[in-house]
Amino acid sequence: MSNSLFDVEKLQAENDRSLRIAELSALIQRYQKSYYNGEGEISDAEFDALWDELKSLDPDNAILHSVGADSGNFEKIRHIMPMGSQEKAADPEQFLAWAKKHSYPEYLVEYKLDGASLELQYEHGLLRRAVTRGDGSVGDDITANARKMNGVLPVLLCDGKTVDYTGGIRGEVIMTHSVHKNFFSDKANCRNAANGLMKRKDGEGCENLTLITYDAFASDGKQPFSDEEEKILWLNKCGFTVVPLKICTAPQEVIDYRASVMDIRKKLEYDIDGLVVKERTIRYEDAARARPDRQIAFKFSLEEAVSVLRKVEWSINGGTYTPVAVFDEVLLNGTTVQRASLANPDTMRALGVKIGCKVVVVKRGEIIPKIETAIHENSGTESEIPVPEKCEVCGSALSDEGSRLFCPNKNCGKRILHQLLKWVNVVDIRDLGESLVEALFKSGRVRCISDFYTLTTAELTPFFLNEESIAAEKKSLGAEKVIKSIKSRVNMSLSVFVAG
Ligand SMILES: [Zn+2]
Repeated sequence: MSNSLFDVEKLQAENDRSLRIAELSALIQRYQKSYYNGEGEISDAEFDALWDELKSLDPDNAILHSVGADSGNFEKIRHIMPMGSQEKAADPEQFLAWAKKHSYPEYLVEYKLDGASLELQYEHGLLRRAVTRGDGSVGDDITANARKMNGVLPVLLCDGKTVDYTGGIRGEVIMTHSVHKNFFSDKANCRNAANGLMKRKDGEGCENLTLITYDAFASDGKQPFSDEEEKILWLNKCGFTVVPLKICTAPQEVIDYRASVMDIRKKLEYDIDGLVVKERTIRYEDAARARPDRQIAFKFSLEEAVSVLRKVEWSINGGTYTPVAVFDEVLLNGTTVQRASLANPDTMRALGVKIGCKVVVVKRGEIIPKIETAIHENSGTESEIPVPEKCEVCGSALSDEGSRLFCPNKNCGKRILHQLLKWVNVVDIRDLGESLVEALFKSGRVRCISDFYTLTTAELTPFFLNEESIAAEKKSLGAEKVIKSIKSRVNMSLSVFVAG
């Protein structure tokens, strides 16, 4: 009996899974279509979330291995370099997991431009065609439009001579912030505006777009460069605008670089939504795959922001002192944030934070934001964070165990109050609220747990009524309720007693 019931549940689960896969496939296709037609309905992050969910449910789904959609109006041209999708890391943790499997002596890091991909096709140095991303292997021929764009070269020239190059050059068509602001502020963002313009039949407005390049592949096999860095240098020498390139020697250096780019991002002329990390060696086989594995898009996230650390406050809970970072207000996932826990002195020291330094603040699944990285770029104006030495309640010397800074004095006031509150909570005396416990503690009437049990209604009444009411010999229902509550919890199990 139970076996067949189990099978029914299993079938149901399988059914739910298929339905979700169908739903995700439909959504991805729909958004892809609107995206490539220049009308992004959802953000990149939302699109990525759908993509990742489908990937985890159904890794072999055909949709994951074809990208883009036809716009139908242009001649279709096959790419020289297929445009696959990239592996993605949304945060340093995911990046480190990838870097663990891809240990390179050097990591070449480029800006990930937030525009529209374009492949220029050259024959003996002359521009023949410009092809949009399309479905990843076939795109639209927009050569006439591309010729109007800044940075699209009709002839490859080096030292005054035509470069005999036959193959593809890939880049991203972008609209600068100033162009967007001055002429296309009706469009939601630069990417949408660029996408719309480059696919106009009449080509109007394409002179407002700019191509920035980052990749090349000679189809006749005569590669004019031998590694990724030389590739960028060669593109630059031919006259193309190229993405900035940074060479890092360790994954942590990449993470730090990403933090510093996040910081200057808003001041850049164009939008970028992350970094692309690859190795120095060019891997043609990997690049030809639908989803190259040897490079990764290390994206920015709405859950991270850069700020400046202004001071550290120490929050006291029981006898424990916890460092709390206070920084310039930042927006994280739509919420304004100004404080983040630094956990304990060890964590604080390991991060290397200093007053005045830049910090990366994150708020992911967790409710409390935290400081993830410190960026030191102007150490002259930074100062050490003072760590309190004496307990501000009782004056005892604090004990710094690294993982915990605390007041060792068992009679320290705050500590007693903390124990009292804990007792009330564990024993579950419902009507005895936190502020009443604090008031009783401050008045001196309750200094230890057993004092709760000698309280009387008369003693509690002043905490509920003002002097006039007491003089009129009024009774407080609140006080009676609290006494009842305390008495109702006199009997308890040994485990509760010990926990309290
Ligand atoms: Zn103390």
